[in-house]
Amino acid sequence: MSKASDLKRITELRRELKRHDELYYRDAQPEIEDREYDRLKAELAELEAVHPELSLIDSPTVRVGDDRVEGFASYQHHLPMQSLDNTYSQDEFFAFVARVEKGLEVDGARFTVEPKIDGVAVSLTYENGAFVRAVTRGNGIEGDDVTENARLIKAIPKRLKGDSIPEIIEIRGEIYMRNEEFERVNALRSEAGLELFKNPRNLAAGTIKMLDRVEVGKRQLDIVLYGLGYCQPSVVSSQSEYHRRLGDWGLPVVEAFWEATGPEEAWQAIEKLDTLRNGFEYPTDGAVIKLDSFDQQDVLGATSKAPRWAIAFKFAAEQAETKLNAITIQVGRTGVLTPVAELEPVQLAGTTVSRATLHNREEMARKDVRAGDFVVIEKAGEIIPAVVRVLTEKRPADSEAFVFPETCPSCGTEVTQLEGEVAVRCVNIECPDQVRGRLEHFASRQCMDIEGLGVAVVEQLVSRGSVSNISDIYRLDYEQVVSLDKFAEKSARNLLAAIEASKRVELWRLLHGLGIPQVGAAAAKDLAKAFGGVRELGEASLEKLVELDGIGEKTASGIVAYFQDERNRAIIDALFEAGMNPKAPERPKEGEAVLAGKTFVITGTLPTMKRDEAKALIESKGGKVSGSVSKKTDFLVAGEAAGSKLTKAESLGVKVIDEATLLEMSQ
Ligand code: NAD
Repeated sequence: MSKASDLKRITELRRELKRHDELYYRDAQPEIEDREYDRLKAELAELEAVHPELSLIDSPTVRVGDDRVEGFASYQHHLPMQSLDNTYSQDEFFAFVARVEKGLEVDGARFTVEPKIDGVAVSLTYENGAFVRAVTRGNGIEGDDVTENARLIKAIPKRLKGDSIPEIIEIRGEIYMRNEEFERVNALRSEAGLELFKNPRNLAAGTIKMLDRVEVGKRQLDIVLYGLGYCQPSVVSSQSEYHRRLGDWGLPVVEAFWEATGPEEAWQAIEKLDTLRNGFEYPTDGAVIKLDSFDQQDVLGATSKAPRWAIAFKFAAEQAETKLNAITIQVGRTGVLTPVAELEPVQLAGTTVSRATLHNREEMARKDVRAGDFVVIEKAGEIIPAVVRVLTEKRPADSEAFVFPETCPSCGTEVTQLEGEVAVRCVNIECPDQVRGRLEHFASRQCMDIEGLGVAVVEQLVSRGSVSNISDIYRLDYEQVVSLDKFAEKSARNLLAAIEASKRVELWRLLHGLGIPQVGAAAAKDLAKAFGGVRELGEASLEKLVELDGIGEKTASGIVAYFQDERNRAIIDALFEAGMNPKAPERPKEGEAVLAGKTFVITGTLPTMKRDEAKALIESKGGKVSGSVSKKTDFLVAGEAAGSKLTKAESLGVKVIDEATLLEMSQ
């Protein structure tokens, strides 16, 4: 290759990588798989090695991909947060060990082998044992201060326990999201017609960088800690000792790590880790092998990007090749059309996969997926198998591009796409697939919990025309039920009894079951507590709804729009006519609501009460607890180590009280 064409490729690769860095680190919405990214990066490194003189031209100034975004204050790490060199090859791993042993002039260096967690890198600072700050990796030198959001992560202790606690320590780790939580959040997004997150890592990255704490609070993030930054005075001398110490201090730590001497033992540990990692709580994408002794680490030092004493060995994501037999379209209860790949069954990561999501119309068009194609499917950290790419070289000559339907496959209504949404929807409220979906949701365990009213029964009831909306369930008679497939006298009576009993469910279950856009179980509980009845909620104004903790603007407009729709009001009327009588949550009695109308914010460590306890006390007395200080706040309850909220409250003239005063006021 000529120097000119190499230069052209180097420029191209740098531009491409920069774009992917932004998509990955800043937007948490990467376009390509990690392996593909790593391949481009390796190609660039190779070309730069051939032309060291070109490396200086347009050389990136940041050392690691920069995750900083608008809206957060920057904070400089005491010690830089570096990246890691990585490899997918056993030979390269052995070459790393040989380099380390040569650099130290030893035979058989001692390593730790630990999981490489696929989360979002973060540095927690503890001062004299108290948690004071959480900062993202940023550009390695300074990152975004995400302390307020990190305080919502239950696994981060406010204080370290045990002894040998340094005056100041930066503890590095990864914020991550568990698979169940990832699925829960994506399911809600799918209902709302929003773009889905591709994997838990992207969702965790997007969540810790949200400016709206209410939204952050609705998603459960977790954390695991493994790394040491600045530490004064120094209290540990090796990585293995450090892991143990982190556990003693009460921090969440890696589920397993190995101590190994020399390349062979280290390799065995890597292989062992690969067999165990699927059972870990967090997603992992490799092993990190580190020289154990901190003194030896210092001898080898680091380059501007990564330490010389560690390497990441990345496990290839599990992939499989199979034939895509057909593309079907599912219509969900909110009318969203989801394309699904019907696959020739194939074994992948221990399960047989025969269906994979194709997400939405845009995603399909981007990949140009067609029926009859051979595709590569992957199951990395995520549980939903996805089609990664089409093997176009195997595409039959007569293959035809997939045409996304213009009309709903269930009812034939023309589909629409709202501005700002990727979802394509059927807007016909009587669409049979939607009706089925809504009924299944209504009867499900998370809603009315009607035993015996499952998918198959709903299917029959809808196709026979016995029910067309949720209120019809309460008009079913014995004859209609007993004539269903597999039903006899006893089962019919049981189902009717379960339907009857459901009229007395807790109010939040009914609110969840109505299928109001954006209202999941948690929001339904908040709404039940705040309004005490369906009609009361229906009369609430947008302003009143957004005032509630946990209800954002989007949810509030979803609720208002739902109750404005006459058809929904008619269904609710019919439910009540049929005898629906849900149980409202208990509210404080008149004399007990001494804090009614007052808004509190709690900050710092209180002397005797946990924050949750203080919150429960305030709410039991009719008061409201909010997550952030504003002009609307009446009192800031401040404990020890109160930080920015105290400053803000003082600057806004909000009254600051202590725990004792709160207890007095609550009498
Ligand atoms: P990395 O993820 O390969 O490794 C370094 C990071 O691993 C560390 O900074 C640390 O945060 C983390 N880590 C997890 N467990 C660890 C442990 N036990 N010990 C030490 N560190 C641990 O490197 P990176 O610089 O964070 O990111 C680069 C990688 O991100 C790329 O290799 C690529 O896979 C991915 N990426 C993908 C895209 C894309 O478009 N798909 C874009 C940019 C980056």
